[in-house]
Amino acid sequence: MNISAARAISASAQQATEHFDILIVGAGISGIGSAYQLTKQLPDTSFVILEGQESFGGTWLTHRYPGIRSDSDLHTFGYSFKPWVGPPIATAAEILAYMGEVIAENDLGKHIRYGHRIETASWSSDSNLWTIDAVRTDSGEPARFTANFLWMCQGYYRHSEGFTPEWPDTEKFKGRIVHPQCWPDDLAVDGKKVVVIGSGATAATLVPAIADRCAHVTMLQRSPTYFRLGRNAIELAEQLRQLQVKEEWIHEIVRRKILFEQDVFTKRCISEPEQVKKELLGQISAVVGPDYDIATHFTPSYRPWRQRIAFVPEADLFHGIKSGKASVVTDEIDRFTEAGILLKSGEALEADIIVTATGFNLCILGDIAFTIDGAPLDFADTVTYRGMMFTGVPNMAWVFGYFRASWTLRTDLVAEFVCRMLAHMKEKGAKKVVPALRPEDHNMPLLSWIDPENFNPNYLMRDMHLLPKRGDKVEWQHSQDYWAEKDQFPAIDLDDKAFVYS
Ligand SMILES: Cc1cc2nc3c(=O)[nH]c(=O)nc-3n(C[C@H](O)[C@H](O)[C@H](O)COP(=O)(O)OP(=O)(O)OC[C@H]3O[C@@H](n4cnc5c(N)ncnc54)[C@H](O)[C@@H]3O)c2cc1C
Repeated sequence: MNISAARAISASAQQATEHFDILIVGAGISGIGSAYQLTKQLPDTSFVILEGQESFGGTWLTHRYPGIRSDSDLHTFGYSFKPWVGPPIATAAEILAYMGEVIAENDLGKHIRYGHRIETASWSSDSNLWTIDAVRTDSGEPARFTANFLWMCQGYYRHSEGFTPEWPDTEKFKGRIVHPQCWPDDLAVDGKKVVVIGSGATAATLVPAIADRCAHVTMLQRSPTYFRLGRNAIELAEQLRQLQVKEEWIHEIVRRKILFEQDVFTKRCISEPEQVKKELLGQISAVVGPDYDIATHFTPSYRPWRQRIAFVPEADLFHGIKSGKASVVTDEIDRFTEAGILLKSGEALEADIIVTATGFNLCILGDIAFTIDGAPLDFADTVTYRGMMFTGVPNMAWVFGYFRASWTLRTDLVAEFVCRMLAHMKEKGAKKVVPALRPEDHNMPLLSWIDPENFNPNYLMRDMHLLPKRGDKVEWQHSQDYWAEKDQFPAIDLDDKAFVYS
């Protein structure tokens, strides 16, 4: 190749590279919330949001199964800055509409590039920049970006496919097997016998949503899950509305009430688990009646809150069971048959459609191949700074929300921290910040990302070895404690030795 041809290629490659101060990965509830905070707190910062899908919403765009709804209230799952005015448990469509308003009201759309799936991210200590290579999902063309700081809002599970365990003889089944994460548009459940495998929030939502239309729906679970029942309404919000209190105030007051009550509930799960268990099971028993076998089907072996507790609005799942349109089977799958599922007990479940509501594949940092100065980065070799930064990884923050409180509460806390950190770096003239263990941390035991005694859902247990390590000090762990972090985060000393600037 002659020199001018080489120069032309290099020039066109350079033209194709766009630079931004910040690159946000993902236009889900975290990415949009982070972008909002950035525009308010550091308005002169240039930024882009790269999103692999065709629109915003993340989780609420990906999941399209019948009945898809939140399982936590939208006063706290919604943003602090935009009042939620509907019933607390919201459908995916309502959440998308709310996010759409946030994008429109704050002119965030111009910052989002849809259909850009990021494949690699490489840090160079020479330029103090991240180079991000994405693929345009419509044309397959590459797109290159550079950024000073990466803000990872890519969620925690793989959007392209859900988790389905391997069972014997699935290929023999004559009907359809579907995962709720990839719900086919053409799937008609009307008049069909449906078996839903699983009993988490997805199954608990799907079963009542289709029970009226199916011939019968069976929720097949290996082991029971805890549920909380209640009205899909907040009385205090209704009262304040009657008094014509402003929606901004209602949002804030109701957020505080919910957070206060959740804190009390979480503490009670630890201090008096048996009493809480009795109350939770009592709620179910009140709907399905005293003769129903609660001990087998709704009494988990673990204490409440060790896994997320799904909220069942208006007890719809349990009314479906009571009416006989839905039933629960607690057993293990022996194998699939032509007509359905044979259970270990010998019972056979006939089905036209089998739905595998069996969870997610954990996805660490968006399936992006990271390198630092040419060396591949394995996040399992790092230690997390408060569940949002990683030792040895420069200029990067990750939004990983709460399990026991709404995810979005942490989006705001992390955003406040990141904006403060960026302003601090500007003030110091620093181009790079890397978390590092301090001398006093060097003998600290390194543990798994989360204590399985504390919280142990299957998708985390399966892939915990892929996640960054946790230390035994508060700085080096994601505490999952909103009530502590809401005071700790704003007080983080940015000149702590855990941050190395250059
Ligand atoms: C069915 C369901 C119900 C839930 N209900 C609740 C609830 O009620 N309350 C609660 O607190 N939590 C709930 N959760 C957890 C939920 O995922 C989070 O609360 C929240 O939606 C996560 O938002 P996020 O923006 O961080 O991530 P996501 O919603 O996962 O969005 C991440 C976005 O990043 C994009 N992305 C990822 N990798 C790349 C890449 N390499 N390149 C480009 N783009 C990329 C994805 O396409 C996606 O759009 C629920 C989860 C599910 C699956």
